[in-house]
Amino acid sequence: MATGFVWEELYGWHSTGSNTGQIPSSSIVQPYQHFESPETKVRFASLVEVSGLAKDLVRIPAIPATEEDLLRVHTQEHLDRIKRESLNPKGGDAGDGDSPFGSGGFEIAALAAGGAIAALRAVVSGEVNNAYALVRPPGHHAIASMGMGYCMFANAAIAIENVRATMGVQRVAIVDWDVHHGNGTQDIYFSDPDVLCISIHQDNLYPANSGLVDEIGDGLAAGSVINIPLPAGSGIGAYSSAFDRVVLPAIRRFNPDVIVITSGFDSSAFDPLAQMLLTAAGYSELTKKILQLADEVCSGRVMMTHEGGYSPVYVPYCGLAVLEEMSGIKTGMNDPYGHAFENLPDQKLSAAQADRISQVVATHAL
Ligand SMILES: [Zn+2]
Repeated sequence: MATGFVWEELYGWHSTGSNTGQIPSSSIVQPYQHFESPETKVRFASLVEVSGLAKDLVRIPAIPATEEDLLRVHTQEHLDRIKRESLNPKGGDAGDGDSPFGSGGFEIAALAAGGAIAALRAVVSGEVNNAYALVRPPGHHAIASMGMGYCMFANAAIAIENVRATMGVQRVAIVDWDVHHGNGTQDIYFSDPDVLCISIHQDNLYPANSGLVDEIGDGLAAGSVINIPLPAGSGIGAYSSAFDRVVLPAIRRFNPDVIVITSGFDSSAFDPLAQMLLTAAGYSELTKKILQLADEVCSGRVMMTHEGGYSPVYVPYCGLAVLEEMSGIKTGMNDPYGHAFENLPDQKLSAAQADRISQVVATHAL
């Protein structure tokens, strides 16, 4: 089994400035770093290296997404504005005022989208069985006309449109396990019946009032958008049940050519921006379910592209656990933190969580 891996040094150079969290530094707020700092991703890449796993993965070089790639998803106006602001000595913002980027940010964002493209092409061509694109900046909040939520370009959608346009791929299932709603991906595919968009996220976190159960897609695509907004405090019991009752049967029914995971590790118990309870072992369990399903429906073809996750100490272990599951290789570098959360009573499925999942099951007749 060959697992592809994308990581480029430049992903660590994407600058989000000296914001404190996402508040601009000033004489009132002491300067620190943006939530979306390089730390989580750079340390994830470092752990892949130091654990020894890197030498057993197939390193896939990223190639910058072309204008043609970007314009399959984004408007010319968005592309032009990012390119223009990228020339400023102080850079610009992806669109919502919370998503700063430094000078040269366009080139790095195009390389991030290109990393997702390269990983998906390697999976579809059979060069590797599955692949993880550890890219930055992330992409799942970006809509066609603007970036938002720390995202500049919609990396997953750009990769999907590349393989649909050039490699004969027709049907793609997306599972977004980032703790925030994958609103950008949903918006891009809301009317496309050939892309199944499933997002499992913390209920009404970000964006506000987005990712509700009754957002199901429109026209011929009605039913191809599935939202699973879990209550804050959900652990592996809720996630596992949501996968067994919604994610797996929905993908089986949809019968995709390939599965794309927009992978955020901000559903972990350590994340400063959310209130869920997953551990590295939990992410590993979800990965195993997806890989088994992929063997059944699409010859094992799975590509993951990195999104959020804001704990510098814990994201690397979640990432390593997922890569170990994808590659079938155990490094022996065990998660030193997860035990603190694995026995919490809230890891078990609660009645309220089960009710919410039942609501999704009923909405989609699964
Ligand atoms: Zn997120």
